[in-house]
Amino acid sequence: MASQDPISVETVDATAEELSALVIHPHEESVTKWAKVSKTPASGFGVFAIQDIPRGTLIAVETAVLSIPNVPDEEAAIEFCAALHKSTKPNLDRLESLSLDPLAWKSVSGDAVRSRIWQWCQDNLGTGVDGQRMSHHELSVAVDYTCRCYGIFLTNNLETGSDSGRGVYAFFSRMNHSCRPDIFEYFNTKTGELSIRAIHDIKAGDQIHSTYVDLLQPRKKRQKTLEAWGFMCQCPACANPAFDALSDRAVELDDMLEEYMYYHEDFSSDTDDDHEPFLKGPDEALGVAQELIQIIRDQGIYGESLFHTYWNASKLGVEVDDLQLALDYAREAREIEVCCVGADGKMSDEDPVEWIGYLESQIAHANEEGLLTAKLAHQEPSVP
Ligand SMILES: [Zn+2]
Repeated sequence: MASQDPISVETVDATAEELSALVIHPHEESVTKWAKVSKTPASGFGVFAIQDIPRGTLIAVETAVLSIPNVPDEEAAIEFCAALHKSTKPNLDRLESLSLDPLAWKSVSGDAVRSRIWQWCQDNLGTGVDGQRMSHHELSVAVDYTCRCYGIFLTNNLETGSDSGRGVYAFFSRMNHSCRPDIFEYFNTKTGELSIRAIHDIKAGDQIHSTYVDLLQPRKKRQKTLEAWGFMCQCPACANPAFDALSDRAVELDDMLEEYMYYHEDFSSDTDDDHEPFLKGPDEALGVAQELIQIIRDQGIYGESLFHTYWNASKLGVEVDDLQLALDYAREAREIEVCCVGADGKMSDEDPVEWIGYLESQIAHANEEGLLTAKLAHQEPSVP
């Protein structure tokens, strides 16, 4: 629970000078002041801390090695071909050095995708520098190379939002998965940069993991999704069956809370939906939010789910007429936001800073009224 002091979020943001040391340009070595790409004993490459990294630290900032706009899946291969054949040699080397998973390879080497790539190569790479047509063999080599690179892209790409499409990153794409990730990645649509921050303290030498899946899911579902990358997750959450009950319960609580919040969307309008939510009132919903917060924290998942649950708990605090509680939860939501995306980033469309200001003014107003009432009560002669 947050203290009642004015908001003080601990941030370990870099100064402008330090920031330049964290920026990874696609043509540079994948190393920052905090972390570097190295071989792992078992799973190819990974990213490792080179010194102790405090929670909230900005570990790296990078632009994509290769990115494509947000287009329907059937057009993605064509966009990829155009982007690939415009790439610089160092970026091609970086892309080629990333892993290619069996399922991604299967999907690009299938007839549909391969024939689109073939067509593109034929139309755009059909003639060599000397103006001669490429032989069938040369074309076939170009198509094989493009298919392979596209498979690598599909294995490693990060969706950066509906406006910005998808990209592969030299540093971020090297991170291995854990259902207890160490970082939060944030794509800034204005700058086109991806920032990576520590969401808990990381020790020097430890491997730094991201997550490839939605973490508020039962273990079996997470593992099913991870099959696409061709591995069985052995992270602490998957290796210990004692965590299964916790994650199942978190899913159940999250569903109940989401249903309740959706039904009462802004608490001001009645919806036409005649399906009553399972939770019967704000007290019950607040209890569920509190239990969910505890479980998420116990599991060490400091990301969007925790932010949203604090946010919902804050809204429910107002509904149960406990403004101080609402303010405490709003400050917790903001603390998570700053840790994950920095003081200038935004984790959702909601604005915790504005909401905190509103709650503070409501509390100040209520206190003034309380004082006035007490004063009046004191002055009024008591009725015999
Ligand atoms: Zn796992």
